[in-house]
Amino acid sequence: MPRRGSISQAMARRCRSTCPRSIPRRTSATTMKIWRSLARAAATSGTAGCAAALFAAACASIAAAPGEPVADGLAGTGLVDVQRLTPGIDLDIRYAGSNNFVGAPVDGYEAPRCYLLVEAARALAAVEADLRTHHMRLRVFDCYRPVRAVQHFMAWAHDLDDQRSKPRYYPNVDKSALVPDYIADRSGHSRGATVDLTLMQCDMQGRTCVPVDMGTEFDFFDERAHTDAPGTDDRQRANRGALRDAMERHGFRNYPLEWWHYTFQMEPAPETAFDVPVK
Ligand SMILES: [Zn+2]
Repeated sequence: MPRRGSISQAMARRCRSTCPRSIPRRTSATTMKIWRSLARAAATSGTAGCAAALFAAACASIAAAPGEPVADGLAGTGLVDVQRLTPGIDLDIRYAGSNNFVGAPVDGYEAPRCYLLVEAARALAAVEADLRTHHMRLRVFDCYRPVRAVQHFMAWAHDLDDQRSKPRYYPNVDKSALVPDYIADRSGHSRGATVDLTLMQCDMQGRTCVPVDMGTEFDFFDERAHTDAPGTDDRQRANRGALRDAMERHGFRNYPLEWWHYTFQMEPAPETAFDVPVK
């Protein structure tokens, strides 16, 4: 299960800020190289002063203004619609449709929307703002996940006769072994501070963005999906590192068995697992 931890009060305050400063965090040499090269390209093409903003904190208009109330998107939960804080964020909410390992819409997903607790939503907005200065964006696969959806996953995992998605999602793992490493009876997603996502590379105008090569697709249940899996090539490793660096700078922590899974490290950590449908 995803690790849990804490960050300092100062960092938590920064993560909650709507105009976050850069938090000194480890940045891999490869990521530095990629972003430097992107900045050089931006400077050469004369686009929007992106080079000058390299590694500076992004104070983007996509984040809420300080003190701005954010409406509770799912009554009584405190979960907010991420698109309200980050208009234009790319959502590919797999469990709201059939393009997932279950092969059908998952219980509790009535719409392809992304809800998170406001602190996590603001931090995600800051990640997206940072990335946009480097001609990159996020693509989000899942956010808050109702408890009933987790129960749907468990029922699917225990139905060993249903092997339809094995070739695509778990070709090298016996379905009976998916629990608990890949599918568990509880998920941090239900507490509203966890998100599954990938990176997209955009053109200089930001009109066209395509997902980068991460080595496996989302929800690929295999050792190759481990964030530091040895079988990935240099480019895939660099892309995973770029996502991790971008997320860690704003208080998210990766689950090492899944390159796409990040939890916002809040103080105090949320304890409530919600079961309100996504709609
Ligand atoms: Zn996840």
